[in-house]
Amino acid sequence: MDKIVSQFLAQVNARNQNEPEFMQAVTEVAETVIPYIVKQDIYYGQNILLRMVEPERVVSFRVAWIDDNEEIQVNRGYRIEMNSAIGPYKGGLRFHPSVNLSILKFLAFEQIFKNSLTTLPMGGGKGGSDFDPKGKSDTEVMRFCQSFMTELFRHIGPNRDIPAGDIGVGSREIGYLFGQYKRLKNEFTGVLTGKGVSWGGSLIRPEATGYGVVYFARQMLAHQNEGLEGKTVVISGSGNVAQFAAEKIIQLGGTVLTLSDSSGYIYDADGIDEEKLSYVMNLKNVKRDRIHHYVTKYPKATFHAGKTPWEVPCKVALPCATQNELDGKAAALLIKNGCLCVSEGANMPSTPEAIEQFANHKVLFAPGKASNAGGVAVSGLEMAQNSLRYSWSREEVDQRLQTIMNDIHKSCVQFGAEGDHVNYVKGANIAGFVKIADAMLAQGVV
Ligand code: NDP
Repeated sequence: MDKIVSQFLAQVNARNQNEPEFMQAVTEVAETVIPYIVKQDIYYGQNILLRMVEPERVVSFRVAWIDDNEEIQVNRGYRIEMNSAIGPYKGGLRFHPSVNLSILKFLAFEQIFKNSLTTLPMGGGKGGSDFDPKGKSDTEVMRFCQSFMTELFRHIGPNRDIPAGDIGVGSREIGYLFGQYKRLKNEFTGVLTGKGVSWGGSLIRPEATGYGVVYFARQMLAHQNEGLEGKTVVISGSGNVAQFAAEKIIQLGGTVLTLSDSSGYIYDADGIDEEKLSYVMNLKNVKRDRIHHYVTKYPKATFHAGKTPWEVPCKVALPCATQNELDGKAAALLIKNGCLCVSEGANMPSTPEAIEQFANHKVLFAPGKASNAGGVAVSGLEMAQNSLRYSWSREEVDQRLQTIMNDIHKSCVQFGAEGDHVNYVKGANIAGFVKIADAMLAQGVV
C-alpha cells in the first residue's frame, strides 16, 4: 500500500514541483483515500484521484491599479477552477501577500472535499491575489477590487463559478467586487456569496464558519460524552472565523482565553466575554487595527509578541488564522497541557507532524475541510435563497447550519471509525471523495 501511495505522490509531485502546500494537502488525502480506493472495485483503476489533483482550469491575470499617490501598482490575480463534478465551482478569494499558485491550489483541492461534505451541489474552486489590503485606504481597496473583477468577471457566473471571501476579503471587498460585476454584466445575480443582507446576502453567513467550527467541536465532544460548558478554549486569529468561533464558545458556556494576529497573541485569564469581544470586533472590522491594543483597554490581559497561543493550557484549541500555524512542537505542548479537542477553523492550520501527534495521543482532531465547512454551507444556502428570490430567517439558517455540521460529523464517523476512536481526517477525506468520485464516474472521462 505504501508503495502505491508513494508512486502516486511521485507522479503528482513531478508535475507540481515547488508547490509545497499543494503537495501537503494532496499527501494527506492520498494516504487516507488510496487504501480505500484499492478495496473498491468501482473506483480502482479509474485514476479518479489523479484526475482530481489536476485543476480543470487555472486563470492567472494582471491586476493594475492606481494608489492614492497616483502610482501604478501591479498585482497578480488567480482563479483555480478545480472540480465541477457535483456543481459549479465554489470557493473563496484570498487577498494576502503570501498568495501564490501552491497556496491557492491547496485551498481549491481542499475545497472540493469540503463542499462535497456539505451535501450541497457545489464544486471546488479558489482564487485571490498577492494584494495586501492591510494599510490601504478604502478607495485603494475599491480600485483594486474593480480592476480585479474587470478580468475575473468573464470566468465566473451564478451557474459557473461563485467566489466568496477568505483571508483579506470580507464584506467591504465583496461589496466592491459585486458592484463591479453588476456594472460589467448589467445583471443582478448571485455571483458572489457573503453579500450584504440588503442586497442578496444570507443571515448568519458572517457567523457561519466560526459557529460551524464550534458546532463540530461540540459534536466531537458529545460523541465522547463530553460538553463545551466550563471548558477553556484557545483561539488563534482575530478575523472573521476567530471572532464568531469566540462568540459561539461564549454562548455555549466555554471560556475563551486567547485571540491573535500575525504580530502575536493576547491572553486574558479572566476570559474574553461578550463585551470584550465586541471591542475586538470594532478594533478589527472598523478600525482595522492590531490585536495588541486589547491589553491597553483590558490591562489585566497580556500580549505575547511574535508568539502563537498554543502554549496556553486549554481543553479545546481552535486554530482560526492560517495554514501551518500549529506545528509538531505546538501540538506537543497542547497535549502536555491536557488539550482534549482541536477543531480547525482555518484551512490546513496543523502541520502533518502536529496531526500525527494528535492521532497518537487520541486527541479529538477535526480537519478544516470538515469543521470549517459551515461557511461554504451557508454560502450554498445563500445561493439557494438567491435562486428562490427569498430570504430565510436567522433561526432557519442557523438550524440548517447545525443540521449540516451534525451530518458532516456523522459522515466522518461512518468512514473514519477505528474501534472506539474516530479518525476524522480519514472519515472526512473518504466521505468527501465518494460523492465526487461517483459523479465523475457517471460523467465519463472528462
Ligand atoms: P480574516 O482575514 O478575517 O482573518 C485572518 C486572521 O488570521 C487575522 O487575524 C490575521 O492576522 C491572521 N493571519 C493571517 N495570516 C497569518 C499568518 N501568516 N500568520 C499569523 N496570523 C495570520 O480571514 P478569515 O477569518 O476569513 O480566515 C481565517 C482562516 O479560515 C483562513 O485559513 C481561511 O482560509 C479559513 N476559512 C475562512 C472561511 C470564511 O468563511 N471566512 C471559510 C473556511 C475557512 P493579520 O491581520 O495580522 O494578518
